Amino acid sequence: MDWEVVVGIETHAQLATRSKMFSGAPTAFGAPPNTQASAIDIALPGVLPVPNARAVEFAIRFGLAIGARINRRSVFARKNYFYPDLPKGYQISQYEQPIVEGGALAIATPAGEKTVRIARAHLEEDAGKSLHEDRRGMTGIDLNRAGTPLLEIVTEPDLRGAREAAAYARALHALVRWIEICDGNMQEGSFRCDANVSVRRAGEPGLGTRCEIKNLNSFRFLERAIEYEARRQIAILEEGGRILQETRLYDPARDETRPLRGKEEAHDYRYFPDPDLLPLVLAEDEIERVRREMPELPAARRARYAAEHGLSAYDVALLTESREKADYFERALAAARAPAKLVANWVNGEIAALLNDAGLDFDAVPIAPERLARLLERVHDGTVSHKGAKEVLAAMRARAEDADALIAALGVAQVSDRAALEGLVEQAIAANPKLVADFRAGRERALNALVGQVMKASRGAANPAQVAEILRAKLAG
Ligand code: ADP
Ligand code: MG
Repeated sequence: MDWEVVVGIETHAQLATRSKMFSGAPTAFGAPPNTQASAIDIALPGVLPVPNARAVEFAIRFGLAIGARINRRSVFARKNYFYPDLPKGYQISQYEQPIVEGGALAIATPAGEKTVRIARAHLEEDAGKSLHEDRRGMTGIDLNRAGTPLLEIVTEPDLRGAREAAAYARALHALVRWIEICDGNMQEGSFRCDANVSVRRAGEPGLGTRCEIKNLNSFRFLERAIEYEARRQIAILEEGGRILQETRLYDPARDETRPLRGKEEAHDYRYFPDPDLLPLVLAEDEIERVRREMPELPAARRARYAAEHGLSAYDVALLTESREKADYFERALAAARAPAKLVANWVNGEIAALLNDAGLDFDAVPIAPERLARLLERVHDGTVSHKGAKEVLAAMRARAEDADALIAALGVAQVSDRAALEGLVEQAIAANPKLVADFRAGRERALNALVGQVMKASRGAANPAQVAEILRAKLAG
C-alpha cells in the first residue's frame, strides 16, 4: 500500500527591527539576561503597548512578495496562557483578522516548480526564555526576548513529504532574507518551523489526523523529524491503530519525535481583541510606498536571467539562492567581456566552493566581482585553462595583484603562441617515430599520446586543443 505524507508548516520569522513589537526596548541578541525587557514587554500595571511601524511595514512587504491580500484592517488579540517565561499571562498576536492572507510561494521539486499556498501571516510578539542549563537544578528566566516582533507564516497542507517541506522552508528562508525583513539566523532562533504531519493512503480524499512537531531550527532536523514522524504514523496505521492528535518534540540526538502534549491538554487560549490596542488600519499610500520600495524578487530575477542570458532553470535557481549571490553575479557579468554561462558557472561553482571552504557567505566574498571578471576574460580568450584559473583564484585570496599579474607570476598561461607550439610539435614528431607511424596507420589514440608528449614538454602550459590541431596538420602533410 502506498502512503502519502501531508505537511503544513508554521514558521516564526523574527522581524529585523531594532526595537520590540510594542515597546522601544532593543531586540539585539546576546545581552545579559533581563536587561532588555521593558515594563511594556512584561505588562506591568498601567503601561500601554504601541505597535512598531517598521514591523507592520515588514509584514506588508512579505505579503506583497507572495502576492497575498494585505488586510486594510487587522486586529491584535490576546492569547492567554500561563508559562513561567510569560509573566504577563498572555501574548499579543493576531487571530481572526491577520494582516496578511492568501498568497503563494514557488518551490523547486524534482518534478518541476510547485506552488505552495500560504494561508496567512500574522504579527505577534515572542515570549521570554527559560534557561535550564547551569542552574543547579533550578530554572532561570530571561525576559530579553519578550515582546520581540515575529511574523508567523502558515501554509495550507500542500506539501508532500519531508524533501518538499525542507525545500519550502529553504525557499521561505531565502525570501525573508531577500526582502530584508528577517536575518534568518537559525542558531539564534530567528527562523524556526513547526511541522504538521499526517499520512493517508494514496488516492484517499480527506486528510489524516496530524501531529505537530514544534520548534525545528535547522532544515536537516525538519526533514528528519518529518521522515521519522511519517514512519511512526504509517506503522501505527498498518497495525490497525489510530493516530492521536498531539504536539511532539524532535530529539536530534536520538532521531525521533516524542509527545509533548495531547489534544486533551491543548490550550483554550481564550483569544479576545486586546483592549489596549486599536485595530491596525493601513492607509493605501502606505501600502503603495512599500510596493514602490520592494526590491526585484527572486522569481523576477530568475525569469530575467533566463530571458536575457539564456541560462538554464538550474543555473538561475542557484544564482538566486540569495540576493547577495545574485548581485555578485550581476556585477561580475557587467564587468566581464565573457559569456554569461561562463560567469554563472564560476559563481555557482568555484566561488561558491571557495566560500564554503572559508565558512563565508556571498555578503563577504574575498574576491571582488570585477577581479573575477578579469580572470574569466582570460579563461574565455584561452590565455589560461580552467585548472590554471583555479590556481589564480586561490592566489587572489591572499594577494592583491590582478588576474594578468597572477597568471604571469604563477606561470599558468597556456602557450598559444603558434610558432612556439609548432616548435614543440616538431620536436615531439622527431622524437616519437613509432607514435607517428601508428597514427598514420590509422590509430587515433597515437595522436593523444603525441599531444601528451607536447603537454609534458611544455610543462602543462600548452593549449591542448591547439596542439592537436597543429599535430594533425603536420602529420597529414
Ligand atoms: P491550528 O489552529 O491548530 O494551528 P491550523 O488550521 O492553523 O491549525 O493549521 C496549522 C497548520 O497545520 C497549517 O500549516 C495547516 O496547513 C496544517 N495542517 C492542518 N491539517 C493538517 C493535516 N491533516 N495534515 C497536515 N497538515 C495539516
Ligand atoms: Mg497554529
